[in-house]
Amino acid sequence: MTPIIIAVDGYSSSGKSSMAKRLAREIGYRYVDSGAMYRAVTLWAMRNGLVRPDGSIKEDTLIASLPEIHIDFKVDSNGQSTLLNGENVEHEIRTLEVSSHVSPVAAIPAVRHSLVLKQQEFGNKKGIVMDGRDIGTTVFPDAEMKVFVTASPETRAERRYKELTDKGIDTTFDEVLSNVNERDRIDETRAESPLRRADDAILLDNSNMTVEQQSQWLKDLYNQIISRHENSK
Ligand code: C5P
Repeated sequence: MTPIIIAVDGYSSSGKSSMAKRLAREIGYRYVDSGAMYRAVTLWAMRNGLVRPDGSIKEDTLIASLPEIHIDFKVDSNGQSTLLNGENVEHEIRTLEVSSHVSPVAAIPAVRHSLVLKQQEFGNKKGIVMDGRDIGTTVFPDAEMKVFVTASPETRAERRYKELTDKGIDTTFDEVLSNVNERDRIDETRAESPLRRADDAILLDNSNMTVEQQSQWLKDLYNQIISRHENSK
């Protein structure tokens, strides 16, 4: 079967990563979490004193440092871990502190250009499921399968709150909800490839769906698209 590109975009904590990861495993595709790449750059900026106390970013220094920031993934017993210059930062990039600085970092055009190039390289042989905000619009506008996932902010904050507390991270529901709302606002209003549904992306509102139902929905869609794709050859 000819491999295709699958773009799964959507709002933060919409469950898109879990769905995308599971589909990739089931169909033997590579999975790339593009949000983890923006998070890793953010962590690098935080560690190197490029986030001012008011939350603004020392953009020029960060842009000049981009050639020194190498991001990759390795498959391990956790599924997949993010590497920042060879160091496993999978746990650290998920903290609320990184979440609260990532959207301003992701709004910097030079950061986006650099990460988009890397993401396109990951997909150059197809056979990939990538999730993010601009995969179907900017990274792979010709992807054969595009999905846009959404759910109410409260549902998403509830899921994220559970995920963080399950990992032992100390936070409150209100703190998580305000982070979800703030990231939505910045992601939707930035000038460079803002979060939006591609015209040809299929919309999934999974507010009232179990993880099992979402995964099945995605797998069914994949089967339909792949059979159409094979028949058109
Ligand atoms: O997917 P996740 O919530 O981990 O992404 C973290 C942040 O990275 C998002 O809130 C968004 O600001 C940014 N992002 C982006 N473009 C992507 C993926 C993530 O701007 N393709």
